[in-house]
Amino acid sequence: MGLSEEFKKKRERELEELKEHKKELNKGEKDLYSKVWVAHSINFVVEEASKEVPTLKDYERFSCYLATILARKKQVVAVWLRILSDRCEIHLSKNFTWKNKDVKYIDKIMMHLKDISKNAPAHSDINEGAFTEAVTVYCSAKLESRYEKLRDYIKKNGGSEHVRSFKDFFSANTADKTSMIMASRTCNKYYKEVKDKDDGKVKSSILSEFLELIKKVGSYAGSIIGIVECARNIQYKSLFSNSIVIKRSPVIVYDQPIYSWKNIIRRFIEEDKYEGFMDRCSKKTNVMERMRKAYTDNATKQQQPLNGSDVKQCVYLHAEMNILAYIIDNKINGREFIAVSKKCCYLCELYIEFAREQGFDIIISENYKKIYSGWKLPHVKNDNFKIDSLRYILESLNRIIEQKLEHYTRSLPASPDSGGEYLDVSFEKASKKVRRVNSLFDE
Ligand SMILES: [Zn+2]
Repeated sequence: MGLSEEFKKKRERELEELKEHKKELNKGEKDLYSKVWVAHSINFVVEEASKEVPTLKDYERFSCYLATILARKKQVVAVWLRILSDRCEIHLSKNFTWKNKDVKYIDKIMMHLKDISKNAPAHSDINEGAFTEAVTVYCSAKLESRYEKLRDYIKKNGGSEHVRSFKDFFSANTADKTSMIMASRTCNKYYKEVKDKDDGKVKSSILSEFLELIKKVGSYAGSIIGIVECARNIQYKSLFSNSIVIKRSPVIVYDQPIYSWKNIIRRFIEEDKYEGFMDRCSKKTNVMERMRKAYTDNATKQQQPLNGSDVKQCVYLHAEMNILAYIIDNKINGREFIAVSKKCCYLCELYIEFAREQGFDIIISENYKKIYSGWKLPHVKNDNFKIDSLRYILESLNRIIEQKLEHYTRSLPASPDSGGEYLDVSFEKASKKVRRVNSLFDE
């Protein structure tokens, strides 16, 4: 066999292996998305979210502020600062597409920040004012929804001690009581005060729910102040004068094939238990609602059959995964903090855990422990990494589904239409074979 012949054979073998590899990946991914959807429906909250918050460096906190002011209502934005010797890259990603409006806003924000930084330590009402206004307008819808939630809480709990104490503080500290952004500023002040003198009271769940609402309203004013302070910091002058924004493109697959609901459930339980399980699910409105939503075809708005063979779903890369994929592909091994405008979901957290095991020092702000359907696996360039991460997440999902199904089917009540009547004849017959006893009750 000639040398070129041998080379050809080797090449063919490699291609064959590659095909097998891709097959496993496609099949595994279909498995993954189908199970994510089932797990999301039957076990949305995996466990209590951890209260642990990592200690952040100044510029990492800056990323958090940026994430807050870049996310419009119902949107998730992730921010990662990559500080290099000659410049700073601000990587931004979002679950869905960047609109023209977003792009213009980001440009404007960056321009204002450069101006503020250049002018520091002097103040300029024009620069700071323009920045504050831009943020307030862009974020107004989201701020309003948070503001309304806080208002509802206050209405319902007006009499309680913690609400009254906040009311006193609010009255004394807010000049314009009908301005959302002024309220945000007061909330930010109040949250800082109460959090700093955390004397054990904060641990009560009512108070922490209330404080969480205050924190959310206050996050806008807090972010504006934090960003301006950072831009005015002499230490960061070069960072702002030499920064470039890199907007990552979203990754969305609109018609990802998935296995049917029944197909997945049946891998865990026998046919005879399936009906009972479905019966149990139908009594849980939350489960049914999540199942319905997750299984509704995006294009036709029709719910797809639970046992259908041609089920499709939209999956998309979560904003933080988009940035993480870049970090992995570029083998960036230092401490890298990714700020997200929303708490990190359970599957993103699992993926980060996997990346950490592979030597990536990834820090993320807060987590959620919730499973969202439509979560997409990052496609990193390294095939082994991709397959291993897929397996890692599948293992965890299998465990979650198995436990939940065990819980659902183990305690199944006896089916009402089967009291075992068909055994009556057998009981009668068996009676004749044993000794008679006195009746439990006298006639
Ligand atoms: Zn996520």
